[in-house]
Amino acid sequence: MVALTDLTTQPILELDKVGLRCERGGFHIDPWGDAAVAVITHAHGDHARLGSGFYHCAEECLPLIKQRLGPETKVTGHKYGDRFRLGDTIVSFHPAGHILGSAQVRVECDGIVWVASGDYKRAEDPTCAPFEVVPCDVFITEATFALPIYRWESGAETARQILEWWDSNIREQRPSLLFCYALGKAQRVLAEIKRLDPSRHAYLHGAVHSLTELYRRQNIDMIDTTLINDETKGKNFAGELILAPPSAYRSPWMKRFKGADTGFASGWMRVRGARRRRGYDRGFILSDHADWPDLVRTVKETGARLALPTHGGVDVLSRYLNEQGVVATPLRATAFEGETED
Ligand SMILES: [Zn+2]
Ligand SMILES: [Zn+2]
Repeated sequence: MVALTDLTTQPILELDKVGLRCERGGFHIDPWGDAAVAVITHAHGDHARLGSGFYHCAEECLPLIKQRLGPETKVTGHKYGDRFRLGDTIVSFHPAGHILGSAQVRVECDGIVWVASGDYKRAEDPTCAPFEVVPCDVFITEATFALPIYRWESGAETARQILEWWDSNIREQRPSLLFCYALGKAQRVLAEIKRLDPSRHAYLHGAVHSLTELYRRQNIDMIDTTLINDETKGKNFAGELILAPPSAYRSPWMKRFKGADTGFASGWMRVRGARRRRGYDRGFILSDHADWPDLVRTVKETGARLALPTHGGVDVLSRYLNEQGVVATPLRATAFEGETED
C-alpha cells in the first residue's frame, strides 16, 4: 500500500492556474482557463467552459456540451465505466447523480486511484443515472452544502409541495411562475411532477425549453410543455405553471404573467431569509447537490485514505472528517469561486 505521505507529496491531481491538473495524464478536469485537454464532469457553466483544445465527457453529457460550447466543439463522449488512456493514466467516468450526463472522474496511475467527484448528490432523481460509489485512495469531494443545517427532503416531497402551491394558484386564477436553474433543476421538476400527475402541462421560458428538448431526446420522461414565444403572445396564463431561469426574474419578460405568484426552487432556499431577500413569494428546497449527511457518508463509503473537499464549506467538512478519523484537507480553487448552479 502506498504511504499517505506519497499521496500528498506526489499528487496525481493538483490545482494550477488553469484548474485541476493531471500532469501524468496531460489533462485538466473542469478547467476555467485554456487547457490542451479538458475532462468535463458536467455541462453546468462553472464546469464546462470554452477555450480548451479537446474535451472528454460522459456520453449523456455530450449533446449538452455541444449546446453550451457550440456544435464545433471537439469532444468525445464516453460510456460510464469505460476506461480510456490519457498519457500515463487510465481515465473513466462514473455517474454522479447531479444532472443528466454528470460524472465523477476516476484517474488511475501507477496503481493509485484518485476520484474527482464534480458536483454530486445521492438523492433519487428521475432525470439521471444514480451516483455510483467508486472505491479510491484519494477522493476530491465537492462541499457546496457542507454545513449540518443542510438536509434535504426527497425530490418527490418537494414536487408535491410545488403541486400544492400550483393548485392553490389555480383556485385563485393566478399564474405560478417558478424560477429554477435551466439545466437540470427544471427538468427534474418536470419529471417529478410527471410521476405525481402525468396529465399536467407547463409553459417554458426559451432557455429552459431548449435544454428540456435535449433531455427529451434522451428519453427522460417529463410532463408536456409549451415554449413561450410569439405564438403564446396575448395568452392568459391564469392557473398555468411557468418555468423560467433566475435571470428572467424581475425582467421585462415577466410582465406578461399578470398577478403571478413567484417561487424559487433551490437548495439555497434552506437558508433562513434567502427567499425574502430575493423577493420570491415561495421557496422550495430542491438541490442537486449532496446534503451534509450524504457528503460525510459518501466520503466514508469510497474508502479513501485522503479526502480533499473543494468548492464551498471546505473547512467545516475537513474538520468534521478529521474528527471522524478520515484524513481530510481543503483543496482551494483560488481562481474561481462563485454561486454554483445548484
Ligand atoms: Zn453543477
Ligand atoms: Zn458546480
